[in-house]
Amino acid sequence: MISQDKKQEIAKILDDRLKAVICPMCHQHNFIIADGYFNNIIQDHLNGIALGGPTIPTISIICANCGFVSQHALGILGLLPSNDSKNDEKKEGDGQTR
Ligand SMILES: [Zn+2]
Repeated sequence: MISQDKKQEIAKILDDRLKAVICPMCHQHNFIIADGYFNNIIQDHLNGIALGGPTIPTISIICANCGFVSQHALGILGLLPSNDSKNDEKKEGDGQTR
């Protein structure tokens, strides 16, 4: 679950960047922030799902009236960690000294 502090940060960024938050489907103004992130897998083939490959992490806002889901890439919003934690493991297997 995303903390209330994080949701407020996300809401502030979206408020700053969107001229007006209006649902493109029903034209209402009430959106809620999803309780978790989507991590959209991108791949160059359609047979099967490639895990561990490139993704586009997003936060979604959902129209409280019609349920329209609007996804926003976290990288563009400046909400991705600067270092990818997947790269924490260093390749030092051959590092023996004599
Ligand atoms: Zn709507």
